[in-house]
Amino acid sequence: MAKVIDGIVYMDNNATTMVAPEVVDAMLPYLRDLYGNPSSMHTFGGLIGQDVLEARVKIANLIGATPEEIIFTSCGTESDSTAILSALRTFPEKRHIVTTRVEHPAVKSLCENLETLTGHKYRVTRLKVDAEGMIDLAEYEDALREDTAVVSVMWANNETGNIYPIKKMAAMARERGILFHTDAVQAVGKIPFDLKTLDIDFLSFSGHKLHGPKGIGGLYIKRGTRFVPFLTGGHQEHGRRGGTENVASIIGLGKACELAAERMDEENIRIKYLRDKLEEGLLSAVPKSRLNGHKTDRLPNTSNISFEYVEGEAILLHMNQHKICASSGSACTSGSLEPSHVLRAMGVPFTAAHGSIRFSLSSYNCEEEIDYIIEKMPPIIELLREMSPFWKGN
Ligand SMILES: *Cc1c(COP(=O)(O)O)cnc(C)c1O
Repeated sequence: MAKVIDGIVYMDNNATTMVAPEVVDAMLPYLRDLYGNPSSMHTFGGLIGQDVLEARVKIANLIGATPEEIIFTSCGTESDSTAILSALRTFPEKRHIVTTRVEHPAVKSLCENLETLTGHKYRVTRLKVDAEGMIDLAEYEDALREDTAVVSVMWANNETGNIYPIKKMAAMARERGILFHTDAVQAVGKIPFDLKTLDIDFLSFSGHKLHGPKGIGGLYIKRGTRFVPFLTGGHQEHGRRGGTENVASIIGLGKACELAAERMDEENIRIKYLRDKLEEGLLSAVPKSRLNGHKTDRLPNTSNISFEYVEGEAILLHMNQHKICASSGSACTSGSLEPSHVLRAMGVPFTAAHGSIRFSLSSYNCEEEIDYIIEKMPPIIELLREMSPFWKGN
């Protein structure tokens, strides 16, 4: 069994978050005694079905949906696939998808597969982003066509934290009769919104990105939007997703959403203060460092900083020795030598893209940790630059 490492400074919350203690407490009874199947006819199972409904209400309340508009899935990735594939099956004659160049691999690789595995039956337009990672709405408007079945644009980017103009983009799709999906895995619990007032057909979210458990996700399906299931089987989720409910995790996700609804406004102010202090501290202490992403239209918890002429992986190893956890690019791209597709789409120069570190905070971070990182980082970068052949002469 992996051991708990004492005293870690965890700044990798866009990769996954700590399960809130209140969430663990809420889940435990369902892992121990309350093991009944919510679909059963007997009271033991049926009462658990009630608890699942209560969790669904808490989730719906956080995002301004009704409980009937939410289905549970196994993860954010499943929700993304479910939404996009449903839209394509709803409009079999429409074979065009609009997305962006900065999507999470969950959407990115599905779209790639839809092109290549079907012999290019589907065509995909991937919107460009500018140097700050933002979309051009005029380009978006031009991309919407007669044969566009679905738009899939993330609400907030996991690597840079950039927030996209989803409300406007959804309205533009609706005007043209095009279904709109947003991967809101990084947005739910971090930015407030009210789906009742929006033209979004499908919205994906995931438990482990908002202090809930891993292996539970959800998909919002707007009332009246036609839906074709991804997993068929039993009549769970009113026939919209087969498979016995992951009860404990559903209860945990419900609790996590309840906590987020209570705490979000206040915590965002504190998290943003800490993030800004970290960002300003590092950018001023380390020469040739730069921010990747939009300065203001961004999640309050995310800061992606490039330290030019050093390797992100090397920086992470040194940070690891000081028990600081962060990411270089996204967790899915580290391990390969290619810099992240998000930073490449933004045109970040290779010398900077390779040395990018993403810090992502949560309400469990404190100011001492920020001071600690601001103290430890500059000597790490200096040391690595002294060894770098590219740094010489700078
Ligand atoms: C983490 C993440 C996902 C995938 O969610 P899982 O529950 O891990 O499958 C999808 N999109 C974004 C933006 C993410 O950050």
